[in-house]
Amino acid sequence: MTDLLLPTALLWFDDSDKSLEEKVKQAAARYRYKHGKPPTLCFVHPDALGDSGEARQVGGVEVRAGRAVLRDHFWIGREASAEQEQLDELRKHVAGLVHCPDCPDQGWYAVGDVTEWEQVQCEFCWTTPNSFFNHRQEKQAEVQEHIANGGRL
Ligand SMILES: [Zn+2]
Repeated sequence: MTDLLLPTALLWFDDSDKSLEEKVKQAAARYRYKHGKPPTLCFVHPDALGDSGEARQVGGVEVRAGRAVLRDHFWIGREASAEQEQLDELRKHVAGLVHCPDCPDQGWYAVGDVTEWEQVQCEFCWTTPNSFFNHRQEKQAEVQEHIANGGRL
């Protein structure tokens, strides 16, 4: 069961009177705080899902019954296969990127000679959507946004 989760999964305990939804949301917030990414899957004691025992969605988390989970415990984390899909997507994306023929993927090149030169903005880097340069800009913007929102690296 728990081998479906990445090793970053955490065990959350809550025996309060709160609803299952609230508990899962709290566990999810804790996971997100710790790992910077939202969890996707949570295992609970079968009784926690009521008579039907059916899996359900809480936020973006699928809550499933796990026979090995104790009452009031929550195994929450990211599904190993979901992580793999995301990596595959990133690999595909990176494989589709092109290097700049005019500069070392830095968005500018030097014009002139060694003693007298100036920086010229590289058109290829800036105007080619799948250039390495634009990809890097995007990633940096994402990281800056992550930090601006209080995230950690
Ligand atoms: Zn360039």
